Amino acid sequence: MFKTDTLIIGGGLAGLAAAQALQGKKDYLVAERESRPGGLAATLKKGGFQFDYSGHLLHLRWPETTRLILGALGSNCARIKRDARIFAHKSWTPYPFQANLSGMPARVKAECVSGFLAAFNARKPAPDGAEAFSAWTRRVFGEGISRHFMLPYNAKLWQYPLGRLTTEWCAPFVPLPRPEEVIEGAYGKKSEGLGYNTVFHYPKTGGIGTLANALARGLDGLRLGLEAESVNLKKGVANIRHFGPIHFRRLINTSPLDEFIASAEDAPVAVRRAAARLRHNTVYVLNLGVKGVQSDMHWGYFPGAEFPFYRAGIATNFSKALAPRGCASFYIELATSGAALDLASSEAAILKGLKACGLIKSASQVVERLWLKIPCAYVVYNRERAEALPVIFDWLKSRKAQSIGRYGNWKYSFMEESVKEGLEAARNILRR
Ligand SMILES: Cc1cc2nc3c(=O)[nH]c(=O)nc-3n(C[C@H](O)[C@H](O)[C@H](O)COP(=O)(O)OP(=O)(O)OC[C@H]3O[C@@H](n4cnc5c(N)ncnc54)[C@H](O)[C@@H]3O)c2cc1C
Repeated sequence: MFKTDTLIIGGGLAGLAAAQALQGKKDYLVAERESRPGGLAATLKKGGFQFDYSGHLLHLRWPETTRLILGALGSNCARIKRDARIFAHKSWTPYPFQANLSGMPARVKAECVSGFLAAFNARKPAPDGAEAFSAWTRRVFGEGISRHFMLPYNAKLWQYPLGRLTTEWCAPFVPLPRPEEVIEGAYGKKSEGLGYNTVFHYPKTGGIGTLANALARGLDGLRLGLEAESVNLKKGVANIRHFGPIHFRRLINTSPLDEFIASAEDAPVAVRRAAARLRHNTVYVLNLGVKGVQSDMHWGYFPGAEFPFYRAGIATNFSKALAPRGCASFYIELATSGAALDLASSEAAILKGLKACGLIKSASQVVERLWLKIPCAYVVYNRERAEALPVIFDWLKSRKAQSIGRYGNWKYSFMEESVKEGLEAARNILRR
């Protein structure tokens, strides 16, 4: 019989951080189904290029996790000032749109500024209870900014009705400028300090996978190629594909919460029903190796319906080492509500879009390509999520199990937060 004190499902950043904190203090085993650690924070090689699962930039804000992450990367880490833009109405303007309207045509600028001021002056209070994203953006930003950016961009990203999307995720991710910042930004003064990611860190070489590899080093309980097929929290046993049962005392899950609950044999019907109500989108990332790129931009947002993608970035503008000399690498992100994408026609539409915004001149510049699929990419914030999570987490608590990370905790979070939750989960176990 195979036994461990703490079983960690998933060796992404959350699982690796938990294992780091348990290493040498408690017996643990990380079951990671892939043949490499890192989860979404991984880097793949193809034809001389290194591609991440889209841009994975480090936004650091907490002292302990900053120390851990920067310590793991050592001298192989660059600190970079963001150059993010928006392409709308055939023009580029700096990010965030709401505070940098200067690049927009005069009529769009006027509509956005007057709409913002009207909304600001009306100062409508937030309604009691959950507010839909579409109502929130109109109340806070007004009609123009909502119509020209917030609504079309978020519809493309979330692939979910914005009248049913709720707003708990907005605070760290959607900057709220003051009226003078909106006006100054519209008439030429670039507003650079807004948003959670004005400065970011990224490995100088090796892509973001370097971080996961550094965190995985020295973990004697990390086991790759082990997939948890089912768990029974009451009995303290997980069934691992092609391996058999593993008995545990404590469990930390980092796999997607809906799948984890579906695989939990002892989950009551009410908990299963709650998990079945959770929704997420799917993101496809087309990574391209490209010759002859001129732009210095890090990434751009594309609200327009003429572009199939919502965001495109140039990874070599934050790490030249990701591509052979003379080449750049792009990541282009498309979202669906789960439906399979026709990759050939999508690629043709992407190349047309990249030409339309001037990032490439011709499809013949493309020398390498790699499609990556993120089946569960952004969890949907809706009423069902708000109702389901307490039911699920109350049951997990009663079974003394923890479910953490972007998908285990079912939230819109970033790498540092997964690391933080991993450290906290391990601490909870060490305290008991
Ligand atoms: C498109 C996109 C862009 C992003 N960009 C950024 C960014 O710029 N900056 C940033 O900070 N964050 C970014 N993120 C978020 C970041 O990817 C996550 O916050 C973080 O990597 C999540 O780590 P995790 O360990 O919680 O989950 P994951 O990385 O999903 O790790 C979970 C692990 O569990 C494994 N697993 C799943 N099921 C099983 C099973 N049954 N048995 C065994 N193993 C299993 C998986 O293989 C995986 O390795 C982005 C996310 C997306 C989708």
